[in-house]
Amino acid sequence: MKRIDMQKILPQSGAAFELKKGQILKVIDPEGEQVSDMVCFSADDKREWLSSGKTLDYCNTLLITKGHNLYSNRSRIMMKILEDTNGRNDFLLAPCSPETFTIIYKDKEYHPSCFENLHTNLSKWDIKPDDIPVAFNIFMNVQFQQNGEISVEPPLSKAGDFMLFEAEMDLIICLTACSAEQSNNYRFKPIEFEIHEK
Ligand SMILES: [Zn+2]
Repeated sequence: MKRIDMQKILPQSGAAFELKKGQILKVIDPEGEQVSDMVCFSADDKREWLSSGKTLDYCNTLLITKGHNLYSNRSRIMMKILEDTNGRNDFLLAPCSPETFTIIYKDKEYHPSCFENLHTNLSKWDIKPDDIPVAFNIFMNVQFQQNGEISVEPPLSKAGDFMLFEAEMDLIICLTACSAEQSNNYRFKPIEFEIHEK
């Protein structure tokens, strides 16, 4: 693999970019215990996007990791997961948003959020706030009980853990360094990503 780009996403921010079919995206947690929300849109038609419902359905699991495909709302494979050194990710919960912090955390002040970082970075492709779907939450540790109860626990990722995704179509992608206290064990860290060609 040949690295053609690398970027650091500062704590509580995000970055959007294009990934061509056949290119490989590496998402790295450089310090450990940091979640990165990822959304993807087809570069050819932004009404096609990465779908939690389709992916969980076709993969027959709530725990998406190495060997799984990520599917669009049109049931096409958008990405293949080639590697996942941590192995715990979430595809159930929506990106943290300003309302997350007022409803769950009772915050009264402005709070950065993945939702804001996703739609502001994607606005140059004319992707609007209402277009943001449930994100694939890389390194997010959501635990579920037999009775259906869920809880957000500290990420299990260690410094240097990473995932590799191969694009199966031309994509517009946005990644964040998540802004929610509970999801990141109450410390905001950066996320790094690289683009590779085979
Ligand atoms: Zn978040």
